[in-house]
Amino acid sequence: MRKKCLVLISGGLDSALAARLMQRLGFETEGIAFLTSFQPIPRGGRSHSEEVCGRLGIPLHLVPLDEPFLEIVRSPRYGRGKHLNPCIDCKVLMLRSAWEKAREIGAEFLVTGEVLGQRPMSQNLSALRQIEKASGLKGLIFRPLSARFLDPTRPEQVGLIDRESLPAVQGRGRKLLLALAAELGVSGFSTPAGGCLLTDDGFCRRLSDLMELDLFRGGEVDLVKVGRYLRLGPRLRLIVGRSENENRYLLERAGGRVRLEALGSGPAAVVLGRPGRADLLKAAAIVAAYTDESAAGPVPVRISDPVETVTASALDRSEVAGLFI
Ligand code: SF4
Repeated sequence: MRKKCLVLISGGLDSALAARLMQRLGFETEGIAFLTSFQPIPRGGRSHSEEVCGRLGIPLHLVPLDEPFLEIVRSPRYGRGKHLNPCIDCKVLMLRSAWEKAREIGAEFLVTGEVLGQRPMSQNLSALRQIEKASGLKGLIFRPLSARFLDPTRPEQVGLIDRESLPAVQGRGRKLLLALAAELGVSGFSTPAGGCLLTDDGFCRRLSDLMELDLFRGGEVDLVKVGRYLRLGPRLRLIVGRSENENRYLLERAGGRVRLEALGSGPAAVVLGRPGRADLLKAAAIVAAYTDESAAGPVPVRISDPVETVTASALDRSEVAGLFI
């Protein structure tokens, strides 16, 4: 029987290449990808990871990592990168979860598309060793793209893999990787997957604000991925949709939070925190400010809790601008 491995699939070129190399080495190969609150909103259709596994013809396990991921963003053990990205903790968490899946499906070791020296924080030699140690998976993480520069792993030690048959990729350049992609017939993934919102300036500003307000939870994190983010009061925030899609997104995910909707063609909004009556009237005036009809006079705005429709005059745009976070 062929030996099985489980590849962590990011949706970018590197992990696709790692998976293809494992197939070429004759391993039964499966993929695993994680769902967290810090991924961009899918634009419909298949995710990058599903796309990669579909093209490689391998099964993909999609594993949600909601609460544990929030926890490492809140208080990372190994520090953060330039923004709020806790890359070392993130890798440790993903590898541990992947190993649970590997045991379930009978895979002997894990594979990643990491390249030595590609990322300053999480892909230097000491970080790779630290990740292995912290995850308790020493010798069980095989990185085929850079294996020739790394400590020998268990599948190599028992003779399942000869590292000399592998490419020797290191550093930030993409040339070797693109050449390898051409050689292995892996097409359509010319860039790394990226897309982690924890490296996005504006999004991290919103997250830091949620942390300060003690509102750093999955539901709130999802909501602040869209819209205009405004200070409604010292402990209150208002998210106002900028398009029909965002309005729909906000209303669908509002849960028990207070929603506002301009009747006619205006935006929808959601309040984070517990607003009083005066706050709701101010929120309605902000919503009215983004309604085309406001030039012609006050606008009806429906509030969800307590249910009522108020007639709101638009708050002056310069005043609204001062509320942006
Ligand atoms: S960039 Fe984001 S997804 Fe990637 S390792 Fe860092 S925290 Fe994890």
